Amino acid sequence: MSKLLSVVVPCFNEQDVIEETERQLCAELERLCVERRLRYEIVFVNDGSKDSTLSLLQQIHANHALRFPSGLGQVRVVSLARNFGHQVALSAGLTFAKGDAVVAIDADLQDPPAVLHDMVARWEAGVDVAYGMRRTREGETAFKLLTARLFYVCVRKLTRIDIPLDTGDFRLMSRRALDAFNAMPERHRFIRGMIPWLGFKQEPVLYDRAKRFAGTTKYPFSKMLKLALDGITSFSNAPLQTAYLAGFLVAGFSVLYAFYVLFRQVFWGFPVPGWASLMAAILFLGAVQLVCVGILGEYVGRIYDEVKRRPLFLIDEEASRGAST
Ligand code: UDP
Ligand code: MG
Repeated sequence: MSKLLSVVVPCFNEQDVIEETERQLCAELERLCVERRLRYEIVFVNDGSKDSTLSLLQQIHANHALRFPSGLGQVRVVSLARNFGHQVALSAGLTFAKGDAVVAIDADLQDPPAVLHDMVARWEAGVDVAYGMRRTREGETAFKLLTARLFYVCVRKLTRIDIPLDTGDFRLMSRRALDAFNAMPERHRFIRGMIPWLGFKQEPVLYDRAKRFAGTTKYPFSKMLKLALDGITSFSNAPLQTAYLAGFLVAGFSVLYAFYVLFRQVFWGFPVPGWASLMAAILFLGAVQLVCVGILGEYVGRIYDEVKRRPLFLIDEEASRGAST
């Protein structure tokens, strides 16, 4: 029996683009599967969309066999109970995928389906993870490019895992890499860090990132900030150690200052006690302590989320071949 290639597509309010994505993706997969003697399944994950994404996906599911009668592929639709966010929606799709290899791809055609040929070729050559690396990025704002670059520099400095630059969540994974990934139970998921952590054989596949085909970004600044925090806290304890650093610095400074004060007292006497310097020192130390408590709180909150052991996501409905929609 030929091998199965799964493609996971998380979708959140993508009614403007989803039909075109399906058209291009299926056309590419039909070609690829004939060429490489594979079968395919597409797992669309509806991440609590508020628009008509889900009904469009259900139509796509119902019409697939008619539109692509080769019988090489099928479309499955998994609908989450609410919006869980991109990283969780993708993780949900990855647990549902049955393939011998699985590709994660965005719903907005920013990741060109044609790159699947290269990824599959790497997989067939024995690579476990073939990750898309952006050669160019079209249609991204200067702000997004700058913050993304800044974030990756921070993460690479703070953590010991080697997260490749210019890499998102567009990648192919072999079954053994996927099983290892699915066994990682953490709630705050930073997938582009978790995969390099796995090890195995990983290689980049260069591609030109296109503009979003239609619709607007579903990653506003607040979601990007959350992703950045997840990335840093789940791979590094360095922020926790800033308390040490601040403590040692302030202690060193206060010893020097104590010598200075003594020296002045002995040789000149102290004409006016310094109210301003006292206030500055109190405010500075108060601020340092609050920042340190805040950092601690960030980690404690995450420990709390982990120990609750709630399910990562909940399914509202699922449509696979044979099931009614
Ligand atoms: N997405 C999702 N849930 C969310 C936000 C985004 O499933 O809460 C999906 C979205 O439909 C798309 C992918 O994640 O397929 C990437 O989102 P987007 O293209 O908006 O991000 P950008 O490319 O602007 O960073
Ligand atoms: Mg996008």
